[in-house]
Amino acid sequence: MRDNVSASSRVDAGETANELECLPYSVQHNDEGVCLLVRMGPHRILLDCGLKESSLLLSTLTKSAGKGSSPLPADLVLISHAHPDHARGLLALHQSFPLLPVYASEVTSKLLPLNWPDQAPQEIPQFCHALPLRSPVELQDGLVVELFPAGHLPGAVAILLTYTTVQHSYRLLYTGDFFLSNSRLVEGLRLEELRGLDLSVLIIEGTYGTSRHPHRRNQENQLAERINRAIADNCSVLLPTPALGLGQELLMLLRSHHHFTGRDLDIWVDGAVASGCDAYLELLPHLPPSVQNFARHQPLFWDERVRPRVRRLPPEHRATVGKSPCIVLTDSTSDFGQYCQPDTGPWLILLPEKIDIKVHKKYLAPTTIDSYLLAQHSDGPGTTQLIHNLRPQHVVFVHGSSTYLADLTSLEELQNRYHVHSPSAGTLVELPIGDTFLQPAAPETNYEGELTELGTVITITLPDAITADPRWRQFADTGLIEGHWQGEELVLRGLSQRDLLHQNSDRYTSSDVDCCGNCRHQRGQRCWNPASPLYNFKVTLEGYCPAFERLNDSQ
Ligand SMILES: [Zn+2]
Ligand SMILES: [Zn+2]
Repeated sequence: MRDNVSASSRVDAGETANELECLPYSVQHNDEGVCLLVRMGPHRILLDCGLKESSLLLSTLTKSAGKGSSPLPADLVLISHAHPDHARGLLALHQSFPLLPVYASEVTSKLLPLNWPDQAPQEIPQFCHALPLRSPVELQDGLVVELFPAGHLPGAVAILLTYTTVQHSYRLLYTGDFFLSNSRLVEGLRLEELRGLDLSVLIIEGTYGTSRHPHRRNQENQLAERINRAIADNCSVLLPTPALGLGQELLMLLRSHHHFTGRDLDIWVDGAVASGCDAYLELLPHLPPSVQNFARHQPLFWDERVRPRVRRLPPEHRATVGKSPCIVLTDSTSDFGQYCQPDTGPWLILLPEKIDIKVHKKYLAPTTIDSYLLAQHSDGPGTTQLIHNLRPQHVVFVHGSSTYLADLTSLEELQNRYHVHSPSAGTLVELPIGDTFLQPAAPETNYEGELTELGTVITITLPDAITADPRWRQFADTGLIEGHWQGEELVLRGLSQRDLLHQNSDRYTSSDVDCCGNCRHQRGQRCWNPASPLYNFKVTLEGYCPAFERLNDSQ
């Protein structure tokens, strides 16, 4: 009898059951926002809630709530960051399903109310629970979440979900919007925190497709140059931006760029951008140490004392503020005609690339419109770099125009290694995870071997799989190798025919490029120049330092 009970209640864990799937309600191909429902085993997790039309959101979600046994459209909601395309539908969602738990980072939970500027802040309920960074939290039985700073915006996180069954741990990472580079008010996503996660699924944004960006400092200089030229031409500059992120980055840039520091110039901040600045000031302890340090010496944004002056623009000054050249930052949704008035001088409206801003008014003052790049997301190479570091079985692209996402999904370097998806809204993506799935060949592989000490020599044994790498032939060309220590690690280098020819002269003369290899202070691959920061260190021959002096080589 007892046997019967236990036999009938024993549930086979279903080796063929599909434990993971993603139903995108909205994927931000244009500006419709991001809202994804992810299922991991029995858990239903809503990632972001950026749908613009809350009616659409609610009808969709209510339908899905009706389907299962649960009265809620998901078990919980996780918000990656406070931008409207990820969070604006949240208040309506909360009002319809007050029992649905919502989580985000602490900073995001504080910035969220900026999404509902028409509501009095004290009337917006505190429905978002703050989760700590870099620390796993079990939100439901067998479902653990961990947040990692993602760059892009203060508080923005990549969300790691781990669902554990008896047989298997499934890991899904959703990047939200991410940026690998440091910007002025937020540090970039740290790749090393995410490496080696053994991911099943990566849901990643692809805003910039495969395009490649110039170095951030160049982007900043080009923009500063453009603004500087306009002001020299007696033109005022209007910079429409979203409330959070870009606007504050622009202010920091304008206050610290050599074109503007100390200059008798007014920078006016209007609308939601000004509220965004106030919100940042409340978050000062969460901003990078360099910013906190800056703020100890002078106000971060509002400053009438230090030039250029940064001030809030009173509404009654809108129509007259451009009489002498100035800079105005305003809300990307505001009517720019308010500023470009007959009494003012000419205007230059500078629009950020890849941010949807409508400009269709006829202006009363002479007005030029131009665009600039100050990226807030990683470019194509940054995106593929993150993917290769994570090596998931599935890559799901969202957040970007469908053509840009198609550029990414068709990359051979991705197709060869991963299951790549770019779903449109409403299309269910099944994400089968095979134990037998061959982990894709990684761009970087570790080879484990053995050391044997044999009296006067040692031998290093490595598996012959290493010879499959195309680099092996060059490495093994002469059969001779050279080793040197790098900290505690031993680095091996294959000696080429050319190295052997030059070995006697101990000189690296093959290059016209200034580098340690042809610097007169380098001997035995060590720097002997006390004036160099590399003094006394082992150097690589391709290395360089400002104390470089060319070797006088008569050969
Ligand atoms: Zn964003
Ligand atoms: Zn976004």
